[in-house]
Amino acid sequence: MDILSENNRLAERNRGYFEGKQVLTLNMVSSPGSGKTTILEKTIRQLISAHKIFVIEGDQQTTRDAERIEKSGAPAIQINTGSGCHLDAKMIHNALKKMEVENDAILFIENVGNLVCPAMFDLGEQKRVVVISVTEGDDKPMKYPYMFQSSNLCIINKTDLLPYVDFSVESAIKYARELNPNLEFILMSAKTGDGMQGWYDWLEKQR
Ligand code: MG
Ligand code: ZN
Repeated sequence: MDILSENNRLAERNRGYFEGKQVLTLNMVSSPGSGKTTILEKTIRQLISAHKIFVIEGDQQTTRDAERIEKSGAPAIQINTGSGCHLDAKMIHNALKKMEVENDAILFIENVGNLVCPAMFDLGEQKRVVVISVTEGDDKPMKYPYMFQSSNLCIINKTDLLPYVDFSVESAIKYARELNPNLEFILMSAKTGDGMQGWYDWLEKQR
């Protein structure tokens, strides 16, 4: 059977499950090292008093990120893909059997750091969030177009480092908009907290 059509079928089933429980599910994708886990730690600390938050962590090995997330106050389950380089809808379905996500919650899925095949695998999320950091090239959208075409929001992270790197925010946004005119952008530094409020406001708007 076609792997992607089977995945799409299971993704629709996940989506139905999330809709039934009014769970806002976000698929966070990026290259390794863009700061996804740090963004989630800060977000959880900020929002956990007012929201139910759950996290599914994807990495090839280790439970390090799930441990970091749990320390910030949200239940997390780690999926290790071994030699695999992306999460798929079936892995999410299986994780949901081990972690009961409450109604009206926000579920963050932190995908494996990889801008290539996670673009092809719908997990059943409502929104896809691609994170790039200013330590990467501002031409990332041109090099990995499918990820930017399939995302709803692009977070440009580590803006505190802008004075030290050759990253043009304008160029990155221009390249990404050429691929996906509907893509939204948020600039932030999860480290300093700069721009995080725009992200919290965006999250509220999705509910
Ligand atoms: Mg991580
Ligand atoms: Zn893959």
